[in-house]
Amino acid sequence: MKQNGILCDILPEGHLPEDMKNLGIDEIGDSHLFTSMETPMKASAFELDDQTKIKLIEEKFAEIMDVLGLDLSDDSLSGTPHRVAKMYVKEIFRGLNPANAPKIALFKNKYRYKEMLIERDITLYSNCEHHFVPIVGKVHVGYISSGKVIGLSKINRVVEYFAKRPQVQERLTVQIARYLAEVLETEDIAVVVDARHLCVSSRGVEDTSSSTLTASYLGKFNEHETRDEFLRHIYQKG
Ligand code: ZN
Repeated sequence: MKQNGILCDILPEGHLPEDMKNLGIDEIGDSHLFTSMETPMKASAFELDDQTKIKLIEEKFAEIMDVLGLDLSDDSLSGTPHRVAKMYVKEIFRGLNPANAPKIALFKNKYRYKEMLIERDITLYSNCEHHFVPIVGKVHVGYISSGKVIGLSKINRVVEYFAKRPQVQERLTVQIARYLAEVLETEDIAVVVDARHLCVSSRGVEDTSSSTLTASYLGKFNEHETRDEFLRHIYQKG
């Protein structure tokens, strides 16, 4: 396995380890266990178009609100099911659909810049797949060009694409690193994600100060010197 993350224990695709299989649903969610590097999707995921999905989610969200006892005839609440459904499909979960993947053009590295390129403090808004509440933080990306470069804003777009799904932070980190390795045609990629999970800070243990750090280092970033240089740049702001 090439990824050496700080917290990235990579599990066999689609499986929980034997000793974790007896955990209850609540414990699995709170431990943020995950089963696969690919976002688990069913084969028929895109048989319905966006408008149909919005209509169906709207109906089901209205039911959830009704079961909670909310009065859907109230002016403040009546539009909520539609707003939530539209937000899910068109905004916060739009990255589930490969059709929304960023279009990336590669440029020749004309200046023969062979040093590390770092894009730091990329704003991250995602949602935890165990509780459907926000994950908020920063992403730092480094790469060493193999002769090809991409527009800097495209790195932000790649982060955004994988963030706009129900996620676990470990998978998000690895998905960003793998995708960038593919589009940049280089193995030398580093991704660090530093984020707060609202499922930890606003419920459960209600810890408001902790953040979770995950990293994926590929290629030369597995070498101490290269990794240290990257970490120095992102944390010392030098
Ligand atoms: Zn969670």
